[in-house]
Amino acid sequence: MAKKVRIDPDLCVGDAICTDIAPDVFYMGDDGLAHVKEGMETAGDRADVQEAAEQCPGSAIIIE
Ligand code: SF4
Repeated sequence: MAKKVRIDPDLCVGDAICTDIAPDVFYMGDDGLAHVKEGMETAGDRADVQEAAEQCPGSAIIIE
């Protein structure tokens, strides 16, 4: 089963690293925080999503 990806808004610091690494999965919202694009919630298996999770300074990208 595909791994799911989500962002914990309490941990996101809004530096847009994830949107640079995987722009088709993540976007920056008007709230200044990153979000997972609609329909991309099961992209947790992708290498770029996992890379973004590793690079995220807030450990806000949750893959499960
Ligand atoms: S890399 Fe992490 S802290 Fe930075 S915008 Fe993305 S989720 Fe937020």
